[in-house]
Amino acid sequence: MPAETTFVIVGASLAGAKAAETLRAEGFDGRVVLLGAEPERPYERPPLSKGYLLGKDEKSSIYVHEEGWYTEHEVDLRLATPVRALDPAGRRVTTADGESVEYDRLLLTTGASPRRLKIPGNDLDGVLYLRTVTHCERLSAALAGGGQVVIAGAGWIGLEVAAAAREAGCAVTVIEPEPAALHRALGPELGQMFTELHREHGVEFRFGESVSEFRGSGQVSEVVTSSGAVVPANTVVVGIGAVPNTGLAADAGLDVGNGIVVDAALRTSDSSIYAAGDVANAYHPLLGRRVRVEHWANALNGGPAAARSMLGQDVSYDRVPYFFSDQYDLGMEAAGLPEPGSYDQVLYRGDRAAREFIAFWLRQGAVVAGMNVNVWDVSDDIQALIRSGRQVDAARLTDPDVPLTEV
Ligand SMILES: Cc1cc2nc3c(=O)[nH]c(=O)nc-3n(C[C@H](O)[C@H](O)[C@H](O)COP(=O)(O)OP(=O)(O)OC[C@H]3O[C@@H](n4cnc5c(N)ncnc54)[C@H](O)[C@@H]3O)c2cc1C
Repeated sequence: MPAETTFVIVGASLAGAKAAETLRAEGFDGRVVLLGAEPERPYERPPLSKGYLLGKDEKSSIYVHEEGWYTEHEVDLRLATPVRALDPAGRRVTTADGESVEYDRLLLTTGASPRRLKIPGNDLDGVLYLRTVTHCERLSAALAGGGQVVIAGAGWIGLEVAAAAREAGCAVTVIEPEPAALHRALGPELGQMFTELHREHGVEFRFGESVSEFRGSGQVSEVVTSSGAVVPANTVVVGIGAVPNTGLAADAGLDVGNGIVVDAALRTSDSSIYAAGDVANAYHPLLGRRVRVEHWANALNGGPAAARSMLGQDVSYDRVPYFFSDQYDLGMEAAGLPEPGSYDQVLYRGDRAAREFIAFWLRQGAVVAGMNVNVWDVSDDIQALIRSGRQVDAARLTDPDVPLTEV
C-alpha cells in the first residue's frame, strides 16, 4: 500500500480500536483515522454491568488501550466526533461539524444502541438505560441510593444489573414477557437455572408481563405492568435489547437488514466498505447463514478480521460465537447460539445442583452450543466439538471422566 493510503474507521469502541491496532500490527503505514461519537477513548462495556458498576474496578481498567497508545501508533483518534453522512461514490465521510474525511477503505464499527421503551412516562427521571460509561455512572449513583429497582427485561443486561443491584442492597423486581429469564438466549432449560439463581438472591420476577407505563411526578415512582399490577420503583433499568446503528449505512445505500449486511470477509455491498462488531450481520461459514452477534468476543476478533480483510488478506470470519457473564458467584462462558428452535436435546456433565457443570445443546446428536458454569478452561474444547459438527456419544459427552477432546 502507498504511504498516503487512508483507512477510516467509524465507531471508536472495541471493534474499531482493535481494528486500528491490527492495521498497525500488520504493518499498514498509511493514515488511520478513528472517529468516535463518544467523548471517552475506546473502552470495553462488560465492566459497565459488573465491576465498574459496583465500584470494584477502577475506571482506568475499562479502556482498550492506554491513553498514549493512539499517538504512539499514529492513529488519528477523534472523539466526540459523530459521523453524520457517508458518501460511497466520493469515498468520504462527513462529521457532524461538517468536516469531510476521505478514505480509501472504510470500516463501520458503529455498534448498537439500547432499544427504547416508547410508553407513557418514559422520560421520567430515574428511567435508565445501560450502554455507555455515562449511563453506568448514573446507574451506579442510583444503586448507591438503595431503594426499589425495577428492571424491564430478563436478558443478560437485566440480569447482570439485577445481581449488581442486589449486591448494592436494593430490592429488585424484574418484569419479563417470556416465561423464564434468558429464554430467547438460552431456551427454557438453562433460563430456568438463571431464574432460580436470582430468586435465591432475593430477586422477584414477574414473567408473562410487560411494562406498560411509568408513573411519577418528575421522578419515576411506580411501574405499571400489562396485567395492571403497580410496582413501586425509585429506579428503572430498561434492558430490552439493542438495535444496530445502521443509519449511516442505510442512508448511503448499503445493504442493511438486521445490521449492515457483510460477507464472510466482512465486506459490505460496497467493496471499499467493511463492517464488524455488533453492527455487522455477517455470513457465517460454519453456521451457513448470516448472524449478528452482540458479544464482546465478536467485537474483539471481528475488528481485527475486518482490518486484515481491508489489507487484502484472504479472510473468512468463522469464529464460534462466544459469550461470558458473571452474576453473584456464578461465572459462565457460552459458545454457539442455543436459541429455542435451534436444538432438540440438552445434556449435562457435572454437578448441576452445585452449579458446576457443562450444558450441551444438541441437534440430531451433534453439539450446536455449550455452556460451562463455574467450570473453566473447557471453552476451546466445547468450541471444537461445535465446529466438528459430528454426532457424539451422549454417554461419553456427559461423563466427566471422559476428556472433552475424546468424546
Ligand atoms: C453493559 C454491557 C455489558 C456487556 N457485557 C457483556 C459480557 O459480559 N459479555 C459479552 O460477551 N458481551 C457483553 N456486552 C456486549 C459487548 O460489550 C458488545 O458486544 C461490544 O461492546 C460491541 O462492540 P462494538 O465495538 O461492535 O460496538 P459498540 O461497543 O456499540 O461501539 C460502537 C461505537 O460506535 C459509536 N458510533 C455509533 N455511530 C457513530 C457515528 N455515526 N459516528 C461515530 N461513532 C459512532 C458509538 O458511540 C460507540 O462508541 C455488554 C454490553 C453492555 C452494553
